[in-house]
Amino acid sequence: MLRSFGGSEQLLLEDVPEPEPAFDEIILKVATVSINRSFDLSVRKGTYSRGAVLPLVLGADPSGTVSAIGKGVTTFKIGDRVAVMSTIACGQCQECRRGAAVSCGFSRTIGVHRWGGYAEYVAVPSRNAALIPETLSFDHATVIARHGAAAYNFLINRGKLRAGETALVFGASGALGAFAVQVAKLSGATVVAVAGADSRAAFARQLGADATINYRTDDLVEQLMALTAGRGADLVFESSGDPDLWPLALRCVAQAGRLVSCGAHGGGNVQLDLTRLYVGRLQIIGAAGVNVSDLDRALAAAARGDICATIDRVYPLECAAEAQDYVERERPLGKVLIAPGRVFENVRQERPSL
Ligand SMILES: [Zn+2]
Repeated sequence: MLRSFGGSEQLLLEDVPEPEPAFDEIILKVATVSINRSFDLSVRKGTYSRGAVLPLVLGADPSGTVSAIGKGVTTFKIGDRVAVMSTIACGQCQECRRGAAVSCGFSRTIGVHRWGGYAEYVAVPSRNAALIPETLSFDHATVIARHGAAAYNFLINRGKLRAGETALVFGASGALGAFAVQVAKLSGATVVAVAGADSRAAFARQLGADATINYRTDDLVEQLMALTAGRGADLVFESSGDPDLWPLALRCVAQAGRLVSCGAHGGGNVQLDLTRLYVGRLQIIGAAGVNVSDLDRALAAAARGDICATIDRVYPLECAAEAQDYVERERPLGKVLIAPGRVFENVRQERPSL
């Protein structure tokens, strides 16, 4: 429970009444929820751009077993294993009314504007949930629901990435970037991954990247042009908004290509070379949120073994503060999960080979 913004000591273990399902809601007995470094930690510190409502239980991506269903729910039954999409569209704005809930500008987020999954039980709208395929564990489903689904929406729906194109993926060793590499590869694109350390570049290669560039030691633009016969990337995937890197990202876009911008935790205010933009006939595309169809698609791809989550550690619920500190301090290659009722596990070595 977060009652005041601040350090991890603000995360308090409290007993609260079990949630009751409202109309069209389901209750999950939480199996796993993940820690999102650039998201959960800024919500906790009170610096998240879209505010937060206190007191708050964090946790945007719980997965678990349906333990109760509210009136009006027809799609799930008690005992179903489900994963959750964190964004709740308002249902009333112009975008929602024309059937584009993913573009809702008035959406709320589980674990930010209503209680999330750092808990034994959580209530979620049934339309935000998706069945987890039998062969997929809760641990993997949690990570895939958040980052796999987003990668599908950002690259395929928004970025219109096609087979035969070249995709340049920044932050390729991060949680979202790791799925961007895999989804881009799966769609038939050639993937060049950008990372800030050789170990992280090696990780991106392990995920399927065709080539990697370490932007700290190599000339990023020169390297990319060498790899693409001087053309650049048809699609550049950029999720940090770093003011030093972003102008380079724009220079990497091929003639008439696209840059998908889907994050700003690295700063967010960047220099934009308008001459490059219009002479190159470039598109800069903002992307956020997911469709529940992206969630289904990502879970199905994971069940087939086409995309895969990397998990670093699992902490019991009462160690949530310690788990957040670990994520902030170590920036592990892989997700850190919180799992009520389980004991601490270091599972880094058990990363499935791809
Ligand atoms: Zn709306």
